[in-house]
Amino acid sequence: MATILPQSNKDDAHWPPAAVDSDWIMPGWGTTIGRGIVNKCPHCGHAPIFNGYLAVHEVCTACAAPLGQMPADDTPPYIAMVVVAHFVGLFIVAMFKFHWHPGPIAIAILLALLVLLCMAVLRMAKGAVIGILLKLDNNREKPNG
Ligand SMILES: [Zn+2]
Repeated sequence: MATILPQSNKDDAHWPPAAVDSDWIMPGWGTTIGRGIVNKCPHCGHAPIFNGYLAVHEVCTACAAPLGQMPADDTPPYIAMVVVAHFVGLFIVAMFKFHWHPGPIAIAILLALLVLLCMAVLRMAKGAVIGILLKLDNNREKPNG
């Protein structure tokens, strides 16, 4: 599974690489999205995507993929809202269906957990979206790919 990728210098980084060989071909959709979800470069899987919580490295430190040029924009927060809304819906259904009335401390704990869940899902969704955009070669310079 692990492939040896050519080392690149940031000064002469280019994408897609001029020397086309099998090592530079993007992996399949599942691998690309999975690597993005776990904060690894969707192309090589060796370097992290993020330089902080949501700040993206301009280029991959291992393979020079242009991670910072991927216009993820509003898609990751939308995905995070859709995923987390399902958990909020479970609590609302539980409150009405089972006559569950949590106290203020339980509500505070649940809200804190929802915030943490939002933050985690947002980061994973942004990584996945960057992977999809990198696979589609859809960057800010040519938004329609
Ligand atoms: Zn990489």
